[in-house]
This record gives sequence, structure tokens and C-alpha cells, in this order.
Amino acid sequence: MKDRISLYVHIPFCVKKCGYCDFLSGVYDERTQARYVRSLCEEIRFLGAAASGHTVSTVYIGGGTPTWLDLDAMETVLRTLREAFSVSCDAEMTIECNPGTVTADKLQMYRMYGCNRLSIGLQSAKESELRLLGRIHTPERFLHTYDMARKAGFSNINVDLMTGLPGQTLDDLLYTLEYVLRLRPSHISTYALMIEEGTPFFERYGEDVKRREAGEKTLALPDEELEYRLYKMTQYVLEENGYDRYEISNYARQGYACEHNCAYWTRGDYLGLGVGAASLAGKNRGSNVSDLEEYMRRCSLLAERGQEALWQDDAVKKLQADGFVSPFWDGVQTLSRQDEMEEFMFLGLRMNRGVTRRDFEGAFGCRIDGIYGEVLKKLREEEMLVTENGRIFLTERGRDLSNYVLAHFLLGR
Ligand code: SF4
Repeated sequence: MKDRISLYVHIPFCVKKCGYCDFLSGVYDERTQARYVRSLCEEIRFLGAAASGHTVSTVYIGGGTPTWLDLDAMETVLRTLREAFSVSCDAEMTIECNPGTVTADKLQMYRMYGCNRLSIGLQSAKESELRLLGRIHTPERFLHTYDMARKAGFSNINVDLMTGLPGQTLDDLLYTLEYVLRLRPSHISTYALMIEEGTPFFERYGEDVKRREAGEKTLALPDEELEYRLYKMTQYVLEENGYDRYEISNYARQGYACEHNCAYWTRGDYLGLGVGAASLAGKNRGSNVSDLEEYMRRCSLLAERGQEALWQDDAVKKLQADGFVSPFWDGVQTLSRQDEMEEFMFLGLRMNRGVTRRDFEGAFGCRIDGIYGEVLKKLREEEMLVTENGRIFLTERGRDLSNYVLAHFLLGR
């Protein structure tokens, strides 16, 4: 692993499950939440010792709804994290928040433990759209939360928005964008609604997804053309208002790009803590077990019988690879050089600044043209990307068609 690493901490609890959500999250009683916090702290202490000598430059506490955890429980998590890891004094520390789940006391406590960035899930400023999505908040509750966060000293706030909602018009989205812009948050993320199998939304709108894929007229979801116009309008309005689209779905005022996400896109090492959390450690990718009870069982085994017993456990013994491996993972994938090159391109080109020839050579010891020369030439001719002063980045057309462009960087297998 590199000297500087990032941490992701997963809190899988929500007040209520939203209709479209397929994240690893759910509604659990207080007893389970308390058991989870104890388990998570075990893992934090274990990984902190394993990563001693590494400095943490970004922390992201996500979920679920981390701010739903009661004050004492989250304080225990943050204190344990601070004690176990060497967190840089200028680290970016983000906590995800849903409107209506924080109090002034909670916000003060997050600040006390170094959280300096809040990511608030607004999704829409229209009450009818929030109801449709199954969210628990209203626009007024969001404003109240935003105001409390500012008063608590959070100057770096992200607001998450969703586009492509059932029945959404250009005017609806414009209303939400203008509502948020009045607050001038430092960062805005916009994601298109995905209809995932197994969710109530799939039951309701699965037919529309098929129609859209077939290029047919949809019933409730925006069709392809409207989806594209929603996406372009978002870009236009946010850029006109001084937000830099530094990544396909992310906009920031100058100096406020999310360092944690940039670490992902530049393939920095990160450790995931908590149920289902993903890690990249050198050449090894792994994800913690996604079954809550199995995750907590492993943590109890560690607490009661020590790490020798945990490594000898049947479920853990099979984890074998060179380099860093965690006994909380449910498998490990060792990346080949080819995998790493593909990731370097896929992830790096998501960012406006793209990738550099020098970084590619530094990472792989060979020239980028020797591997991707033909692809770069083709995409340049199609005006999808530009090479300038050793930097390679997507054009606006390339970003609009990013799925098509990025697929070219898969190396033949
Ligand atoms: S609040 Fe977020 S994580 Fe929780 S159910 Fe809704 S979308 Fe999923």
C-alpha cells in the first residue's frame, strides 16, 4: 500500500428504505445498531494496527444514513477511528447526512472529531418528487438541516441531486437547481435515477426501462431524448453559475473538488470498514462480507478469541494473495497489470483533467501509445478526446458518450 491512504466507513442504517434504493442499507432496531457499532470498532482497531505507518488523507463516512446513528454511537466510531489510524491534520473528512436526521449537538460533535465536509442527500427540492422517491424529508427540512450545518461551522457542503425521475420535466429540474444554487453549496453531485432489479421501483418502472432501451416511448420515466436534455440542462445551469464539472457527475466551486473521490479515480489505496465496504490495497481488491450477521460474527471472533482464531476460521482461511488482505473480506481479486491499466484509463478519464502520459509511464514503465496508441488515434479522430501537453482528456462530446468511449480501453482478453 502507498504511504497515504483513504478510509471509507459504512453505516448501513436508514430511517426507512427508499423505493429505488439497492444500497446495502436497511431499517434495524437499536440493539442491532449497538452491536454493529461494537463490531465496527473492532474492525477499525484491527485495520488501524495493520495500516500503522500509513497516513490517512481522506475519510468518507457513508451509508445508509450515518447521521441517523445516535450521538454517542457515532462519537464512539469517530473516537475509535482517530485513535486507531494516523489521520493527517489536513485530512478531508466527509460525513453523509440525510435531512432531518441531525441535531446541532450531533453536528458539533462531528466537527469536534475533525469532520469538515458534509454531504446532504436532497435529491429534489419538489415535495411531490421526494414523496415519489420515498424520501423521509421535505424541502423545508433540508433547508433547516443546511442552515444548522452552516451554523455548526461546515463551510464545505455537498448537495446530492437526482435527475431522470418519473414524470420529471425540464422545469421541475430547473426549479431544484435554482433552489440549491441560492444556497451556493461548495459542491453538487447529480446522478441519474437507476432502476435496479429487486427494488419496488423495478416492479413499478421495469417496463419503462425496457421501452427506453428499445428506443420506444416511455410511460413515466423520461425517454432517452428528455433524459439527455435534463442532463445537458444540469450541466449548463451549474457551469453558468460558476461550478466546474470536474468529473462526469460532480460539480464544484473552485478548490472544492472532493479529495476522497479524486483518490478513487486516481487509484489511490483505500480501506473500507464496515459491512460490505470495498477496499483497494496495492494490487488487491476486496469487499467486506455483505451479510450483516456474518460481519458481526467475524468481529466477535476477533474480540473474543483474537486474530489467530479469526484467520483460522473456515470462512477466512480461503483468502490468500500476496500483499494486504483483510479477514473481513469475502474474497480477493488480485489485479493483473492489464486490469490496472484499464482502471487507470476508465477512472482517470472520468475526470476533466484526464490522465497524463507521464503518470501512465510512472505506473506501468511503458509508453501509453505502446498500449493504447490505436485507440487514442481513433477517439481523437472521432473528436471524443484530446491530447495536449502530455495530458489526455475527454472532449464534451466524449463525456456525453462516456460509456462508448471508456469501453475502448478494455484490453482484448
Ligand atoms: S436514505 Fe439513501 S441509503 Fe437509505 S434507503 Fe434511502 S437511498 Fe438508500
